Amino acid sequence: MTIKVWIEPRENCIADMVCVSLCPDVFQMNEIDGKAEIVNKWRPDPDKKEQGTRSEGTVPDELQDCVDAASQSCPTQIIHYSKDGQQMH
Ligand code: SF4
Repeated sequence: MTIKVWIEPRENCIADMVCVSLCPDVFQMNEIDGKAEIVNKWRPDPDKKEQGTRSEGTVPDELQDCVDAASQSCPTQIIHYSKDGQQMH
């Protein structure tokens, strides 16, 4: 089973890096626009490092706890995830 995670609306990211500190396996800061994004290897198009889809990805179950911590702690509440098609946050 996998966890789907997305950042929406990503333009509301205030770049405080809370998600990166709580869950660096899933979140990173984009060097160009300074906003959070999903780590490349989890994205639907992992090889398109610059133009690819930055705001969504699919991660393994064992990362649910850190995704949940980031989701609960994001000050702008833009981190969402679903498990088995059911939205958790
Ligand atoms: S915790 Fe939320 S606002 Fe802060 S960097 Fe991550 S996505 Fe952006």
